[in-house]
Amino acid sequence: MTRIGVLGGGQLGRMLALAGYPLGLEFLLLDPSVEAPAGQLADALAARFDDPAALDRLAASTSIATYEFENVPVTSVRRLAERIPVFPPAPALETAQDRLAEKTLFRSLGIPTAPFAPVGSAEQLDAALEEVGLPAILKTRRDGYDGKGQWRVGTRAEAEAAFAAAAGTPAILEGFVPFERELSVLAARGRDGSTAFWPLVENRHREGILRLSVAPANGVFEAMQHRAEQKARRVLDALGYVGVLAIEFFQHEGRLLANEMAPRVHNSGHWTIEGAATSQFENHLRAILGWPLGSTLPQGYSAMVNLVGEVPPVEALLAVPGAHVHLYGKSARPGRKLGHVTLVEPDRASLDAALDRIASIVREPALVRG
Ligand code: AMP
Repeated sequence: MTRIGVLGGGQLGRMLALAGYPLGLEFLLLDPSVEAPAGQLADALAARFDDPAALDRLAASTSIATYEFENVPVTSVRRLAERIPVFPPAPALETAQDRLAEKTLFRSLGIPTAPFAPVGSAEQLDAALEEVGLPAILKTRRDGYDGKGQWRVGTRAEAEAAFAAAAGTPAILEGFVPFERELSVLAARGRDGSTAFWPLVENRHREGILRLSVAPANGVFEAMQHRAEQKARRVLDALGYVGVLAIEFFQHEGRLLANEMAPRVHNSGHWTIEGAATSQFENHLRAILGWPLGSTLPQGYSAMVNLVGEVPPVEALLAVPGAHVHLYGKSARPGRKLGHVTLVEPDRASLDAALDRIASIVREPALVRG
């Protein structure tokens, strides 16, 4: 029996385990919280991510490891990697944890981004304002997620105030992109270098939290899908990547500007559980195990709605024909992702109709069409 170690026991780890059991896999998770969603169904070690004894135990009782949380210390991944194979490789994680390294990688691979410049000092802020212009967004280089550690600035005074609010934390200044919409591409790369891509997904956020994904994104023609795949392939190959990678883009005036990447399974890929021939979770496992990747063919038109902060009555959601409900076993808290609902329909009109029904149950402004 192959036992996979997973750093992180959130919903992503839970769905990885759920995808792995039919393939005969077992899991051992490491997560600081004893109530971690994945710990409800897989064996778990409750310890800090940087606890050397716990890491060594994980390495001793598993044959391969991965991570489902982006902020696990790179040193932990490296420690594990001395004992067992760990995928995605540590440099991918290291790059994704630092917005400056991430955007610099995109730039070095010829992948367009918003203009950006490092801000580590008052002098650098001046230079960055010169280079990037206004309006802009000041973002801390590390530990920002779901819109935290970001300040939108329209004037030099606001930029200086944001720099002061960041309190010396290294940051980047990024040009504000008045994008038409946000898209993401999910890609998988196997240990033999084979790749697979799911169709571009359109994502709608509110307050920095993903609310809705639609896949395939409406109005994406072959050429754009191809361009997104080429960009993702460059990143995958440059990093010697193994596993599933997500890259988020802004679509602006026909261009795709890379915003960030996630070296793991991703919220904008949850629709693949029912909406694609092979889910992101299964393909991540196949990739890291050196198994053949499965087909990423969409099974229709899908929408995924996050249940954030509260879960409506499950019976109401299930009364919508075709609704697939996934709950993560988490206690309710404002802004917390507690579950999601996926719809898969044979055409866009049916998808819109089903989505309207979900929107009448999940009171979320981002679901309102138009
Ligand atoms: P991030 O943490 O980089 O994903 O940013 C969170 C959200 O802020 C994104 O999903 C966008 O909606 C918005 N955002 C981030 N960067 C920019 C930018 N350069 N221009 C416009 N909006 C942005």
